[in-house]
Amino acid sequence: MLRSVKGLKDILPHQSSQWQHIETVARTLATQFGFSEIRIPIFEFTELYARSIGGTTDIVEKEMYTFPDRDGSSLTLRPEGTAGVVRAVLEHSLLDSPTSRKLFYFGPMFRHERPQAGRYRQFHQFGVEALGTDHPLIDVEVIALLWQFFSLLGLKDLTLHINSIGTLDDRGDYIQRLKKFLTPLLPDLCGNCQRRYSTNPLRILDCKVPICQETTKEAPVLIDDLSEDSRIHFTDVLDGLTALEIPYSINHRLVRGLDYYSRTTFEITSPHLGAQSTIGAGGRYDGLFQALQGPPTPAIGFAVGLERVILLLTEHHSINPVPLFFIAGFGAVGKSRAFKLLHELRQSGIRADTDHKANTLKALLRSADKLGAEYSIILGDDEANSETVLLRNMQTKVQEIVTLKEITQKILANL
Ligand code: ATP
Ligand code: MG
Repeated sequence: MLRSVKGLKDILPHQSSQWQHIETVARTLATQFGFSEIRIPIFEFTELYARSIGGTTDIVEKEMYTFPDRDGSSLTLRPEGTAGVVRAVLEHSLLDSPTSRKLFYFGPMFRHERPQAGRYRQFHQFGVEALGTDHPLIDVEVIALLWQFFSLLGLKDLTLHINSIGTLDDRGDYIQRLKKFLTPLLPDLCGNCQRRYSTNPLRILDCKVPICQETTKEAPVLIDDLSEDSRIHFTDVLDGLTALEIPYSINHRLVRGLDYYSRTTFEITSPHLGAQSTIGAGGRYDGLFQALQGPPTPAIGFAVGLERVILLLTEHHSINPVPLFFIAGFGAVGKSRAFKLLHELRQSGIRADTDHKANTLKALLRSADKLGAEYSIILGDDEANSETVLLRNMQTKVQEIVTLKEITQKILANL
């Protein structure tokens, strides 16, 4: 039997209603917050990611799916959404349009990682990007959107971790202090961190390996080096969150290892996900546009891993789909009238189905049960002749006579 590629998952019919639900909630909410959807390609020139994500990150160092195109140019399946969004914004001059500065996206991302629960090689993100302002209240709005998204989905016990990493200038001295602190501890750190020491020391603080976390527990914190402006920005963000009654936990170890990241960084974690506890992460990237040869443009965004959201949903919730009406037509006249009724119900927006092969009432009702129908609409020759149907509640088995003329309206009135 042919199998799917390792680390890739099919989303099966019984799971897709949850995906649709999550996407609907995300879309509705993002729209309410003034964001518009952007759909960007699934692959780009490799150079885009190398330049935007940065050569010293896990993603670019070892996780990208990169392949030569037939003309020899190097392409990469997108490992995240921000780079492509910024590329599209620059390419189409969207910054000139006030209605295109708040964008959201959905879609598959690709990273060559070790597959495990909550970590796949193709996974899906919902993300937003707010471009063109560094006002602290836009940070609050973006975080509020993320928080409300999870709360609408009913996710419990979440923690919002927040930090400010200041600007590139703020970080200059700190990096030196950090390196000084780390030098004698190097032999105790994991191989990755030993490498990061020279390429990207800030990332060591973010290492998930327990020994590294333990060894660097007393590391100096960046917050002490923030400039006055960055400090005020951070306080304003925190005050904004408090005003909206969004609880947060300041976490000075929460960093991003790239130069163009600045100020606010945040992450939302759940205790119910084991090792892969982060469901959404985001932050400011005020330098990214310039890194991609655009005009200086402050920006902030987040990305949510939807598989991890699904893992939390299946643990706590099941989604009720729209009720299904099963059309049980039998007898020569009944069956053909029933087929017409099936079409009429669907045209009116009612979820309806039938089983063409079942010809007796017994077989039809068995099919209705198998499909999980809430109601059956029974229509034999007798009913067809008297222009009526029997509306049967499949759970209580109670039946009532309704005229064919009224059935659609009656269903719509009760939906
Ligand atoms: P992690 O520390 O879990 O590797 P990350 O820092 O690589 O996360 P981001 O690039 O910030 O993750 O992506 C945002 C979100 O996307 C993560 O918080 C997570 O929910 C999700 N995510 C990232 N990588 C994967 C993956 N391989 N499989 C499933 N979800 C993922
Ligand atoms: Mg990762």
